[in-house]
Amino acid sequence: MPPAASIEIVEVGPRDGLQNEAAVVSTSDKIALIGRIAAAGIKRIEVASFVNPSRVPRMADAEEVANALPMQDGVIYIGLVLNERGADRALATPLHEIGAVCVTTDSFATRNQGQTSDESLAVAKRVVAMASAAGRRAQITIAGAFGCPYDGEVSADRVVAMAQSAAEAGPIEIALADTIGVAVPRQVELLVSRVAQAIAPLPVRAHFHNTRNTGIANVWAAVLAGARTVDASLGGLGGCPFAPGAAGNVPTEDVIYMLERSGVATGVDLGRLIEAAEWFAQIIGKPLPGMVTRAGRFPRAA
Ligand code: ZN
Repeated sequence: MPPAASIEIVEVGPRDGLQNEAAVVSTSDKIALIGRIAAAGIKRIEVASFVNPSRVPRMADAEEVANALPMQDGVIYIGLVLNERGADRALATPLHEIGAVCVTTDSFATRNQGQTSDESLAVAKRVVAMASAAGRRAQITIAGAFGCPYDGEVSADRVVAMAQSAAEAGPIEIALADTIGVAVPRQVELLVSRVAQAIAPLPVRAHFHNTRNTGIANVWAAVLAGARTVDASLGGLGGCPFAPGAAGNVPTEDVIYMLERSGVATGVDLGRLIEAAEWFAQIIGKPLPGMVTRAGRFPRAA
């Protein structure tokens, strides 16, 4: 089918990106980063994860960030949580939306959150109920939807069944996450369209890492298959300080360039986004992988 007239972008750099960068970024720089991203026109931003700070030290200031956000009309700030304790913490801040996570396989779920896959799904559904009771939006992400770092291939039937079960909790959307960056476009096309049909009218969101250079192609495949929302991180922030070669999310500037030049509106000002990426590369002290920022605009800005 032809692409949608518009696609919503969720910026995940301040969370997924910085959680996995070796550099320590100060709370005030995180808040400045979030402000610049919002000023470029991105309306949903994942700003922190409420996880055990001894396991994820880069997110130890989650409350400080969430309590100091530049609140602006129409900008939705998201906190990621893995369990009820994280949900309690996130719901004690002014965040608008809670992101819950379940995991496709027992091996990955056990190592990631100390649960079986089914338990992670049950917890995610309870987190959505907690958020709804508190009057907040909530969504569920299915991690490892395109492959598991331990078990390899993940059956599409399993992902569809998890999405249908997750939808019963009343989230605003279901996200399919290629947590380890193994997805390829044909797989994305098939899985996104199956899940979209299974949970309609609930929308599908897609989350890709560029570990194997298929990230941007996967975004396009997801858009053509009916995903309504796409995650990206400024400059392609992310990766893993402990795993050489692990890559960050698809770079937001690259995604915006591809979509806008393809006639898909995003509401994002690419020039301001490139400026934000250039500024943040200086803050973090290294070049970021985003290619549009390095290449410059085309056509040149008038
Ligand atoms: Zn991710």
